Amino acid sequence: MILTELTISQAHQGLKKKEFSATELCRAYFNNIESTNKEIFAFLALREDRALSEAKKADDLIACAQDFPILTGIPIAVKDNILVEGTKCTAASKMLENYVAPYDATVVKKLKKQGAVILGKTNLDEFAMGSSTENSWFGPTRNPNDLTRVPGGSSGGSAASVAGKMALAALGSDTGGSIRLPASFCGVVGLKPTYGAVSRFGLMAFASSLDQIGPITKTVEDAKIVFEVIKGKDKMDSTSVESQFPINNFQFSIKDLRIGVPKEYFVKGIDPEVEKIIGAAIKKYGEVGAEIIEVSLPHTEYALPAYYIINPSEASANLARYDGIRYGYSEVQNPKSKIQNLLDVYMETRGKGFGAEVRRRIMLGTYALSSGYYEAYYKRAQKVRTKVIEDFNNAFKKVDLIFTPTSPVLPFKIGEKIDDPLAMYLVDVYTVSINLAGLPALSVPCSGAGKLPVGLQIIGKPFEENKIFEAGKICEY
Ligand code: GLN
Repeated sequence: MILTELTISQAHQGLKKKEFSATELCRAYFNNIESTNKEIFAFLALREDRALSEAKKADDLIACAQDFPILTGIPIAVKDNILVEGTKCTAASKMLENYVAPYDATVVKKLKKQGAVILGKTNLDEFAMGSSTENSWFGPTRNPNDLTRVPGGSSGGSAASVAGKMALAALGSDTGGSIRLPASFCGVVGLKPTYGAVSRFGLMAFASSLDQIGPITKTVEDAKIVFEVIKGKDKMDSTSVESQFPINNFQFSIKDLRIGVPKEYFVKGIDPEVEKIIGAAIKKYGEVGAEIIEVSLPHTEYALPAYYIINPSEASANLARYDGIRYGYSEVQNPKSKIQNLLDVYMETRGKGFGAEVRRRIMLGTYALSSGYYEAYYKRAQKVRTKVIEDFNNAFKKVDLIFTPTSPVLPFKIGEKIDDPLAMYLVDVYTVSINLAGLPALSVPCSGAGKLPVGLQIIGKPFEENKIFEAGKICEY
């Protein structure tokens, strides 16, 4: 038995039957990390000693308990913008190169409570800004399916760790596609939950009206298992809520399923290979009994520009805290610095501590929020956001789920788009609307073996993750 091939429920069964121990499972993953992380660079930091002691604790529990939580002894990787107490949390930025997390994020606390084993922290685009994981201060992650290509971003390290068999599951964050895009590019499953379904306490804030934490896994079943554990209301995050819809014990029949396919998503700019594979996947759903209905999301073309106003605006406010005084890198500590006054502290620290994309977003966002421009940019973008939400509400009157490609393009070459921010932003064209509308969406791999992965995006009504999971499983058969 190859331990790193198992899914979560298979590993759980194996642990239960004492076919192997949590320590052996953890070691198997560290062996793979040792042989492949150098080349793929999915991890920024490993917690080998602590992970092994967590695994030992899981083994102790397993030895004396008949039944134990499903994530007990399961090795999980965590994106490096989510806090794990006592472990560095860098957001892949020079700014936080030496920052050590003082507490656990709520999601991490929940994983630990189940007895999960936290392997380490995964690479990302700096402060989760990007679509390729090339914006990391520490260097890019490579796609395990083709080392010359990007893994997608910004949770590229998390997706590559799962695809490269260096973690059984991982956590990512998704503000405009950062879980779904890398899941699609790496050929794994990624869920962006409904806004509010999962606590963000302990997630470094990027764009607070859009951010969500979610799982990246080998299978849809695994994504459901992890989501079930991390979801729920948390008093430390006032935007979190309890979902009203049961994950299990609800009736699902493919014959009752109405699938909407938005015509605006299959237009100029989509790679023919992506169009073909997604078209075939949707057809398969029709063949097994679902009703396929063309729908319209007429404001789709305005969603990306609105996102790239709202996102930098919120980012510019959230990142104001990195001022060289309280957190992380500071030019004040540089003996050679020419600082004369407080303004110099800000300018020198932020100029040197942040990379190019982060500085670009702060400048764009500050501009969009500044007096005289606020009405023309930020407020207008918010109005567009309302239109995008209305589009989805109208479509969901006719259908239960909406199917689209996760990305219009195949995983691209490292370096291909890095000097062209606009081309990079266009990669997000199918994912950002979902964040603007606060909806849940899953990316499921659906291309044939040996080909570059292509993800099918399944979008649901708020808090209807249950339906998304059941539909997603059909794509895996
Ligand atoms: N690529 C998008 C951006 O750069 C999404 C980022 C994310 O979801 N964290 O804004």
